[in-house]
Amino acid sequence: MAKKDYYDILGVGRNATQEEIKKAYRKLARKYHPDLNPNNKEAEEKFKEISEAYQILSDPEKRKLYDTYGHAAFAGAGAGTSSEGFEGINFEDLFGFGGRSRGRGDFGNIFDDLEDIFGTFFGGRTKRESSRQAYQAEKGEDIYQTLTISLEDAYHGKTVSLEVPRYVVCEKCAGTGVKAGSEQKVCSECGGSGQVAYSSGFIHISQTCPECKGTGVIQEPCEACNGRGLVMTKETVKVKIPPGVDNGTRLKISGKGHSGRFGGTSGDLYVVINIKEHPLYKRVGDNLYIKVNIKVTEAIKGTQIEVPLINGKTEKVKIPAGAQTGQQIRVSGKGMPKLKSKGYGDLIVVVNVEIPSIKELNKKAKKLVDELDKELPPVTKRYEKP
Ligand SMILES: [Zn+2]
Ligand SMILES: [Zn+2]
Repeated sequence: MAKKDYYDILGVGRNATQEEIKKAYRKLARKYHPDLNPNNKEAEEKFKEISEAYQILSDPEKRKLYDTYGHAAFAGAGAGTSSEGFEGINFEDLFGFGGRSRGRGDFGNIFDDLEDIFGTFFGGRTKRESSRQAYQAEKGEDIYQTLTISLEDAYHGKTVSLEVPRYVVCEKCAGTGVKAGSEQKVCSECGGSGQVAYSSGFIHISQTCPECKGTGVIQEPCEACNGRGLVMTKETVKVKIPPGVDNGTRLKISGKGHSGRFGGTSGDLYVVINIKEHPLYKRVGDNLYIKVNIKVTEAIKGTQIEVPLINGKTEKVKIPAGAQTGQQIRVSGKGMPKLKSKGYGDLIVVVNVEIPSIKELNKKAKKLVDELDKELPPVTKRYEKP
């Protein structure tokens, strides 16, 4: 059977605004929500259809893909990744007062106030979470993920696709945590009154039933998410790494942490940068250090060296006559890009004079060293404090 057009499902035109799409979805979701249509397979299917259409059309990027390629754009896509469409809509929004007036017929006087609406929808969880207010929107947790990159990547910047394990809103129950079409059982703790009373002598205390959160009913938890309202998925998140990141740089990707529960906003994803050791360069801040080995004669005469740069090019660097081991030559602007401002750090060339042993030399070189020894001026100062 051919898949129905997402615009048709939501009953909106192809050029509908995001607001119109959201409105159409809310209206339909209220009508077909499984909790409002217990044991109604058709409504359940319809609700799934609406949710799927909304997940695509509410996301400008996915909508564009759908407009271009139709359903083929999402063939084989993981089920989990599509549930982000629920982000940002809280259930107060979705079921709000509309849910109250519609629900009244189905649930009798349960919908006495807003709290009860949520208490009813999320009542299935109360056993596990008795210390918490079941209806309260909870912000999703942040996710921290380490990303190891090369120094070259840190220099140029890069866009990477990260596989992020994250909790997203359970599609099966739309995050309610309640099994679709589950029967509402009268709460045994309070007998359906939503209040429990304790008495001790003359003192009578009446409080909201902890078992059902005052709703008077208990519902079965959703099997897909165990009543949690969230399921674990792996989502591919594109992360743009700006040039100049360093070890420990944290990149924040808003809203890509774990989804919130019960309409709460999603947490954020923090990508923590880890840079692999480079075989040539040592990095200190925005500066790069490279060691250049030269011959003893090069040190005496001075020389010019082609020094490799981090960007793949080379730079001619003049080593002055009389260069000493440990001497540093600064090449301005050839270090790492600055992350927080314009420009680049420096490349610092550290000279190392390789002094061979006389044993390594051939006959002629040995002779020349002997001659040189006689000709060289004596050391300027024999003893110094190191
Ligand atoms: Zn669920
Ligand atoms: Zn109760």
